[in-house]
Amino acid sequence: MTAVRELLTRRGDIELKFIRHRVSGTVHVVVPDDPDKQGEVFRIGEVPADAQLAMASGQTPTLCGYLAYKSMDGTRRSSDEMVSEFDDAHLCARCWRALGPEHQARAFEYHQPSTMLRSGT
Ligand SMILES: [Zn+2]
Repeated sequence: MTAVRELLTRRGDIELKFIRHRVSGTVHVVVPDDPDKQGEVFRIGEVPADAQLAMASGQTPTLCGYLAYKSMDGTRRSSDEMVSEFDDAHLCARCWRALGPEHQARAFEYHQPSTMLRSGT
């Protein structure tokens, strides 16, 4: 997933998004959109065909390859929910590795409850 690392290096303002499996509790890192390529997350060939299909059908690809399925009302038994706070221990180890050593700290920038670290610029 070198495209993600390149994106995170180029755009330090990108906030990672996290999605949690309702059953397992594992928190995965959502593949970030590239604001410089609106509507074109990755070039054809960088994302497997099944992942492209999944994105088109509303599923959410994550860094480790797990395809999350967002469900607003939680009626699907094995669905996922977007989270902004989570326990460090629940972060998916494969997503963590996919971030690469230079970006792994960013996975922990947004999980602190009731802490505003941002400068509001
Ligand atoms: Zn994962």
